[in-house]
This record gives sequence, structure tokens and C-alpha cells, in this order.
Amino acid sequence: MPQRTPRKQARRPRRPQTGTRGRRGGVQASRMQRKKTVSVPPPNEGNIRIIPLGGVEEIGRNMTVIEYKNDIIVVDAGFQFQEENTPGIDYILPNTEYLEQNRDKIRALVVTHGHLDHIGAIPYIMDRIGNPPIYTRRLTGVMIKKRQEEFSHLPAIDVREIEGNERITLGNLPISFFAVTHTIPDSMGVIIETPHGDIVITGDIKLDHVDGVPTKEEQEEFALFKKRDVLLLLMDSTNVWQPGWSTPESKVFETMAEIIKQPQKGRLIIGTFASQLKRLVYIIQTAESCGKKIIVEGRSMKTNVEIARELGILKHKDDTFVPVENIEEYPPEKIIMLATGAQGDAYAALMRIANKTHKYFRLKPNDTIVLSSSVIPGNERAVQKLKDNLSRQGAHIITYQTGELHVHATGHGNREEARWIHQQIRPKFFIPQHGYHYMLRVHADLIQESVGMKETNIVIPDNSSIIEIQDGGKKIVRLKQKAPDALRVVEGDSISELSDVLMRDRRALGQEGFLVVVATIDRRTGKLQKSPDIISRGFVYLRENTELMNQTRLIINKQVNTLFKNGKRPNLDEAKEALSSSVSRFLLQKTQKRPMVIPVIVSI
Ligand SMILES: [Zn+2]
Ligand SMILES: [Zn+2]
Repeated sequence: MPQRTPRKQARRPRRPQTGTRGRRGGVQASRMQRKKTVSVPPPNEGNIRIIPLGGVEEIGRNMTVIEYKNDIIVVDAGFQFQEENTPGIDYILPNTEYLEQNRDKIRALVVTHGHLDHIGAIPYIMDRIGNPPIYTRRLTGVMIKKRQEEFSHLPAIDVREIEGNERITLGNLPISFFAVTHTIPDSMGVIIETPHGDIVITGDIKLDHVDGVPTKEEQEEFALFKKRDVLLLLMDSTNVWQPGWSTPESKVFETMAEIIKQPQKGRLIIGTFASQLKRLVYIIQTAESCGKKIIVEGRSMKTNVEIARELGILKHKDDTFVPVENIEEYPPEKIIMLATGAQGDAYAALMRIANKTHKYFRLKPNDTIVLSSSVIPGNERAVQKLKDNLSRQGAHIITYQTGELHVHATGHGNREEARWIHQQIRPKFFIPQHGYHYMLRVHADLIQESVGMKETNIVIPDNSSIIEIQDGGKKIVRLKQKAPDALRVVEGDSISELSDVLMRDRRALGQEGFLVVVATIDRRTGKLQKSPDIISRGFVYLRENTELMNQTRLIINKQVNTLFKNGKRPNLDEAKEALSSSVSRFLLQKTQKRPMVIPVIVSI
């Protein structure tokens, strides 16, 4: 998946821990609770168990568990960035409680490629699941190790490199790998051999093709499935709802080369995802061949360029890269800047340029900006603002929607690519993954059509669904019981399980504001000592709503009188509850709003 720049890059998490840390204080912390987890019995002898712990109700936090007899293989460990409905958190993790309970059986974490939705959770979970060895290809391994350096308090991880079509045995399970096309080099699919047939996990996948005909390399790679008996396929569903074939990256390369080679008057700024490593390397090399200089802006972009250089994926002359401080020393038409933030990320390089807060760089009217990315759903407004602020400064902007220019291509295959892949692999059973529920559903329909699979051979999972292949490989079922699935999140330096109540509170506070009512009660008479105090933020402007506040005070007064009538001593919690619900009801009726009402009763 394309990836945004992490929101708070500079933050160095301390030791992750579960639980309720005091930083949120009182009411909210007490609502942050750990769901009671029940342990799940192991599969019956001979059954194969598959649990998608994440990535099947979203695009993000991919993680799949394959369990057979005494062995568990985990594939991928990604995280997800926060969404609009989870305010205040940094990342969402897969819930690994099931793996923590079965850590003795875990033989390995196998990682398909280096995107954060596949590697992001590693620093947060490895220690909890017993720190098994991580098997992956070279580039992915380097990216995992680089990230881990930011978590120096954690035990060392054991990353082992997989080469080519090498076959290894983990526990009692033979495993081999195959190369797949995606936006980052070294992406691979995984084949786990079982006595009932192979389990194939594609990872993120698209096809390299010319006008709908896969290239010779693709055809050769997939020919390996002709000899295999595939029991189960788990496959990327992200773009299966899109018709036809996706734009091949080679088209993007052609367009970028045209843009780079065109005579320019000003500087060329290319905003893209740092995870688009193949494209970055191509741009740099093309720029160099035209005698242009490259400036790299944004931390994740710098890291990835450095990794590509270290691994020899990127070769360049010594003077191709110049620091942004020296930009004025070169003629504008010789400068190409690669920048993060094409999604409108608040702190990324492009946003700083748009907001004129970049330390060394100011846009000039002849500059051209290429947004070499699509807009991730949810980021539309941020990207609009970014484009507005950039064009206000006179820059010319090219996006993937500008005319027929292919300045971006997705990393996930469209419908016809998926169909072609199904026909090469021809599995007996199918579990769509990597997508929202609708995308999985579309993918399930497609495979029935493309290889004539029966509906009963398909399971569309939810996160933490337990799926088993039973009866010696004859049928696939989803168990009634789920693996633990409470929402696990990273907030600053801690990992916690958030209840729905907490998220609802945060949304209410953000949308409707709050109101604190303080009732001071005379213990002897049971009457209000003085008129109740009302403190409010984000609800209504109190000074302009004195009438409403006076009426609210009357409601409080009435409620207190009822509660403490005839010397009654009500339970304090119940009294508070009664107070807040009568005030909430009244405010809803008067204003059609539901601010959070926090009652405070002081008795003197
Ligand atoms: Zn992905
Ligand atoms: Zn990916």
C-alpha cells in the first residue's frame, strides 16, 4: 500500500507496555480497560488453522497466522495509521494475544516486503510473541533493522535473509518463496507446504504487463504453480474492484522521463511516497543522465534513498545529490527535489513548502510540482489544501489526474490481473485479504467466475476470524469462536487496548465539546449551597447563552432537590449519573447537541 509519512516522526517510543498509564488521568484512564480474553483451544490433529489478525477490515496492519500441528508461521506484521474514528492515537496494531498464548509454537515471522502495513508492528510485538526469527529478502531485512535502531531498549531481533526460490523448513513445514511485482523491490509471495497441499500467500501484488499481456518474466515466475497442488490461496484484494489492468510502472517511468528531460524554466519538485523505492531510483538515475542535481527532502525519503544506495539498488555519481542549503548555487532548471508529503501530511516536506515554513526553500512562479501519487481515501481535503497553497505561490502542479499523464501507478493489481493470477495458481480454497470488507467480497465473486470455484470453498474473514481446513483438506470452515480482537493501539510511548467507550468519548469531545457542572450541597439541609457553577469548552459560548445556562442551573437545582429530598443520602455515583442525564436531556432538547456532561458534587 502507498504510505504516508509517519505523523510524529521525531518521537522515540520507550519500552512498549500494555495497560493504563496515568498520562490521560482520571475518568478516561479508568475507562481504558483490557478485555477479558478467553484462550482458544488448539486445532484438532490434522486440521490447518488460518487466522488473519489484521488487514481484512482495512488496508493496513496485515498479519496472518498459519498453524499446523505443533508449528505456527506468522506472515507479516504491519500497523495502520490512525483514522478519523480513532482520534488521538498514533497507530493501530494487530491484536497478537493469540500468538502470545501460543508463543512456544511460533517458528518464524515471514515478511513479504518492506512497507509499513507489513513491517510497522515489528518493534511493538516481537518481544511479546517470543522474538522468533524473521525471514525475508535483503532489502526488507535492512528496512526492518533500520527501523529497529529507533527502539534501542528492545532485545535484538534475528533477521535471516531469503535468497531466490530457496526452500527452507520451519518446524516441520517446508516453505518456499516467489518473486512478485509491487512498488518496492524484493517483494515476495510465500508457499507453505502441508500434507494436504500448498498454502500460497501472495503479499501485495500487481502484474507487469504490456496492454494486458503479462511480461515474459511474470509468465515464467507463475509457471511454477503448474507443478503444484495449491490447497489455499490468500491474496491481495485492494484494487480488484477496479476494472481492467492497472497502469504498469513502466508507463510512469516513461512519463517521468519526459517531464525530467523537458526544458524547464524553474525547479522541478516531485512529491511521492518514500515507499515507492523503484520509482525513486528511476527518477534519480534519469535526472543524473540529464546532468541534473537531486535534493532529497523528508526523513523517510532520505532513509529509503540511503538504504537503496547501501544495497547497490541505487548507483550514482558523487555530486548528484546536493544539500537543500546550497540550492541557490545551481541554475533552477538543473534542480530536482524529491519530497515527502504528497498526501498532505502535516509535517512533511511538501507541506512545509506549501506553508512557507521550510527553512531553506521558497517556491518561485516557474517551479513545477509533480504529485506522483494517488490520493488515499480520507486524505482528500488535506491534499486539496496542499494543492491550493502550492498553486497560490504560482507553482505549476501536475497530478495523476492531469490529462493523460501517467505520473502514478498503484502497487495493487486490478480485476483482470487478479483473474490471470487465479488462473495460474488454481487453488482449491480461497481467502481474500488486504482490503476492506467490500473489496474482499468483490474478490470472492471474481474467483468464482475466473476458476469456477464453489462459494463454499471461500471464506471472507474478519480480523481475528479462526478458519480451519478440516477432514484431511476436504473442507474449509470458519469457527464460531474468534481469536482475541480488542483494538490495540500505540499512543505515544505505550500500547493499550482501547474500549469503544473511550473512542466514543473522544469523538464526542471533538464534535460536541463538554460541560462541567459543579453542585455544592449543604450536608445538613440537602440543598444547594449556591448557584451551580458551569464550565464549558467547545459547546456554546456561555456569555451569549446566559438564558440557556440559567435554565440549566434550574434543572440542576430541581434534580438536587429530588435526590436529597427529606434528608436522603443518595449513593454518590447514582446521584452524579442522575444529574448528568437530566442536564444532557435538557441540552439535547434545547440545542440538538450532546456535549459530554461531567458532574461534580461537593458536599460541605
Ligand atoms: Zn500492503
Ligand atoms: Zn505494499
